[in-house]
Amino acid sequence: MDILIKNGIVVAMDNQRRVLKNFSVAISEGRIVEIGANIKGEADVVIDAAKKIVMPGLINTHTHLAMTLFRGIADDVPLMKWLREVIWPIESKLEAKHVYAGSLLGCLEMVKSGTTCFNDMYFFLDEVAKSIGESGIRGVISHAMFDFGGGGKTEAALRHGEENIRKYSAGGRVRAFFGPHAPYTCSEELLIKTKELADKCGTGIHIHVAETKEEVENSKKEKGLPPFEYLEKIGFLGPTVVAAHSTWTSDREIENIKKRDVKIAHNPTCNMKLASGVARVPDFLEKGIVVSLGTDGAASNNSLDMFDDLKICALVHKLHNRNPSLVPAEKVLEFATINGAKALGMEKEIGSIEVGKRADVILVDLNKPHLTPLSNPVSHLVYSAVGSDVDTVIVDGKVVMQGRQVKTLNEGKVLKFANEQTYDLLEKAGKTELLL
Ligand SMILES: [Zn+2]
Repeated sequence: MDILIKNGIVVAMDNQRRVLKNFSVAISEGRIVEIGANIKGEADVVIDAAKKIVMPGLINTHTHLAMTLFRGIADDVPLMKWLREVIWPIESKLEAKHVYAGSLLGCLEMVKSGTTCFNDMYFFLDEVAKSIGESGIRGVISHAMFDFGGGGKTEAALRHGEENIRKYSAGGRVRAFFGPHAPYTCSEELLIKTKELADKCGTGIHIHVAETKEEVENSKKEKGLPPFEYLEKIGFLGPTVVAAHSTWTSDREIENIKKRDVKIAHNPTCNMKLASGVARVPDFLEKGIVVSLGTDGAASNNSLDMFDDLKICALVHKLHNRNPSLVPAEKVLEFATINGAKALGMEKEIGSIEVGKRADVILVDLNKPHLTPLSNPVSHLVYSAVGSDVDTVIVDGKVVMQGRQVKTLNEGKVLKFANEQTYDLLEKAGKTELLL
């Protein structure tokens, strides 16, 4: 075998949600080949997991990786003001090298906080793919498609989207989805044609839906229907659609989501920061809707550390509904692991520690004051752990980080490159005053 992880506390996230004490996990040729108390045989790499949780890598189902470069440059303003006055003017100056720098930085941050797979929507996808390749992480990438303003933009957006699918359809660690940005930035024609193409290619769709109340009001005014009802009417909804946010939904829309088996990418931290609203997650759960967890871009979170989102997700719905029993820790952990895999159509491959799955595994070090005593590992992961407690990261059977030493990327170089490229980008946008 290639890797033997010995004597850990395995939080499997399998169907029985087993937590196994003093168990070992064997990995060969990229897959988990055995889980047991006493695994026999020689391994090339033996990892001692005593006082460590062994669990599936976290899956972030909504982000814009290269927006790490915009971290901290515009806080404490409403979404549309944030987009129109700061983000969009800077993004209009983006070049490939900026996206490469921001994506490498994002990959590094995710590896260091235990995320092994993410769902991204952005531009210059070759750069995003390159950073996934170099960092050793797994990712689903989509080109952000818009066509407001007309003038051949619909065809151009579809061409870009399709090109991306063709390029990254081989499987492996980089995969592609279509990424129509949102119902308010895409025409009906673009949405319908995207859905047809996605079905034809057998791939998924990543889209923002019903993020703010303003979006819902505008949709009612312009289209006569709220966003999900509109998408249902035009035949867009389906099981391969990952709807980011879904913050404002009516009862009827929740029925649509359930009927079409749409997957939700819930972004509680970003929704709180931009005061967008609180998604009806307890209602989604009651209906059996698949909810997964995302950070959104680092400019509106301001971190890609999924452990923040685990805790905030568990807390916000309790507070909002004044009910401490809602959205318990185990559910939240499901959102960030097996449900993330379901959202990306990869639940047969990743999302749990089970024999036959690809080996995307993380070790969380419990030998810390804030994780003592060891009472309930699931509770500790959601309520007490932070990203820097992640000690070891394995993706596709390869050790990407061990003892917090990242093996695939030179951390110092990645940070320096990100700082340089942020300066370059803000200089081009005439906004260097945003940096210290
Ligand atoms: Zn987003």
